[in-house]
Amino acid sequence: MPETVLPVVEQFYSIQGEGFNAGTAAYFIRLAGCNVRCEWCDAKYTWGMSGHAESGVCELVRNVSEAGANAVVITGGEPLLHDLSDLCSALHELGVRIMLETSGTMPLRGDFDWICVSPKRKLRPLNEVLREADELKAVISRDDDFSFAEENASHVSGKCVLSLQPEWSRMDAVMPGIVEYVKRNPAWRVSLQTHKFMNVP
Ligand code: SF4
Repeated sequence: MPETVLPVVEQFYSIQGEGFNAGTAAYFIRLAGCNVRCEWCDAKYTWGMSGHAESGVCELVRNVSEAGANAVVITGGEPLLHDLSDLCSALHELGVRIMLETSGTMPLRGDFDWICVSPKRKLRPLNEVLREADELKAVISRDDDFSFAEENASHVSGKCVLSLQPEWSRMDAVMPGIVEYVKRNPAWRVSLQTHKFMNVP
């Protein structure tokens, strides 16, 4: 069978900055292509599939191994535009933990140890992906984002961590509301983009 080849926007070893796993070391694989295309996206360079380096699964796994990482974050763009089954199998053979960052808008293809769904208004997550989520990370940039977060939370399982994260450019405006919301609704927790404070990618 031919080796799976994926369009990779960038790959680097860093610190997971946000969500439940914030603060832990991880090798990031950012795949090209996004089907959602949010207006405020800070990764518009990932949207197109073409013009990016193509990397085979063996090369990616070798890079993770050489970095000495014990965890990988697969992100995008929307990584579920790609069949990640072969990549996940090869990474698991290496013994690393696989974390997925997804909008949840495409069916799961691959075996992941941590699935973080960040729902987007422009294209809502599939309920089948929300049911499998280990973390629901809702970005808050305006008041009615809380009700959108709750609507998505009504589809997750009991194991799912619920996180509210201020949109970076609106942090000063929305943070007081998030703090009050989490105090009133302690099932939720705050997620910050701490990599931006640490000045790491
Ligand atoms: S889903 Fe993510 S990568 Fe895609 S447009 Fe929205 S913020 Fe950007």
